[in-house]
Amino acid sequence: MKNDSSKSEIQSVSKPNEELPALECKNVGRTFMIGKSILSSKKPLRAVDDVSLKINRGQVFAVVGESGCGKTTLARMLLGLLEPTDGAIYLDGQPISEVDSDVISQKVQPVFQDPYSSLNPRKTIESIISLPLRVHGIGTKESMLERVSELMRLVGLPNRLIHSYPNQLSGGQRQRVAIARALIMEPGIIVCDEPTSALDVSVQAHILNLLKDLKDRFNLTYIFISHDLAVVEHLADWVAVMYLGRLIEFGPATEVLRNPLHPYTQALMESVLTPDPHKGLPEITFGRGLPNPLDPPSGCSFHPRCSKIKDGCDSRLPSLLPESDRLVECHLYN
Ligand code: SF4
Repeated sequence: MKNDSSKSEIQSVSKPNEELPALECKNVGRTFMIGKSILSSKKPLRAVDDVSLKINRGQVFAVVGESGCGKTTLARMLLGLLEPTDGAIYLDGQPISEVDSDVISQKVQPVFQDPYSSLNPRKTIESIISLPLRVHGIGTKESMLERVSELMRLVGLPNRLIHSYPNQLSGGQRQRVAIARALIMEPGIIVCDEPTSALDVSVQAHILNLLKDLKDRFNLTYIFISHDLAVVEHLADWVAVMYLGRLIEFGPATEVLRNPLHPYTQALMESVLTPDPHKGLPEITFGRGLPNPLDPPSGCSFHPRCSKIKDGCDSRLPSLLPESDRLVECHLYN
C-alpha cells in the first residue's frame, strides 16, 4: 500500500487535451459468434454495427433503444471491457486498445442498472466505495476512510451507514453507493447503464437530480444508456438512437426528442406519450417484436415494423446522412 494521499496519486494520470473529444468511435462494430449447442454451427450476431460518434467533454450523451439494440455492448466497449471486432475507439484521442486498463478505469467508470447485484453483499459500504483505491494501491487506510466519508457526503449518504451492508440500505441508497464508488477515482467520464430503471419511480428523480448536480459540479461527461426517453429528456445534451446494432438517428436531444425524423424514433416517442405508466412497450406500438438479430431483415432492418415503408426499403440499406444538423438513416431522407 502506498503512503501518498489519494488525490496526488489520482492526479498522476495525464490531463486530457480539452480540444479532443472525451471518447470517439470510428466505424465500431462488435460481432459475437452464437451457436445453440456445441454441435450446431455458429452464426454471427452483429451486436454493434458500424457506429461512429464523438462524445464531447462535460456533456450528457444518451444512447437509447429497445433491449437487444446493442447499447449495452457499446457501453461495455466504451468502458474498455470488450474489444470491438471492427473499427476503433479513442479515449482522449488515443486508441483505447493502446491505453493501459488501469488508466482506462481511472478515466472512465461505470454505474450499472441494478445497484443490488453490482454491490458485493458481504462487504461494508466503506469497503465497497474504497475498492477502486485499494485495487490501484492508492492512499493509506486513514486517507481512504476520509475520502469515503467525503464521497458519502457528496452523494447524500449519512455517514452512519459507513459500516452497513448493502442489504441494510434502500434501492436509492444502494445506487448512491454505486455512484460514490464510481466517483472515488475522480474520472472524467461516467458510463451510466440504465442507472434508474431498477428503482421506484419516486426515487428515480432523486438519483437523476444527483447525477445532474455531480455533472455540473465536476464537469463530468456522461454516456447515458437508457430505454426510457422520459429519463433521457431530463438529462441529455445529445441523443443517439440505436436499432439492431446500428445508429439510426443522432442529434441534439431537444431536437431529436421534439421532432424525431426516423420512423423508429417517432414510434418510440409515441410510446412515451401513452397514458400507460410503463409508457407502452414499443413491441405493442409496432405490432411486432424486435426481429431475430441472428437473422436480421434485408435492406433497412426496421422495414418489417415500419409504417412508412416504401419501395426499396426491404432491399437497400439506407446510409446515415445529414438532415440539417442531424444524422438519420432512412430512405425517406435520402
Ligand atoms: Fe421505414 Fe424505409 Fe425509413 Fe426503413 S428506410 S425506416 S423501412 S421508411
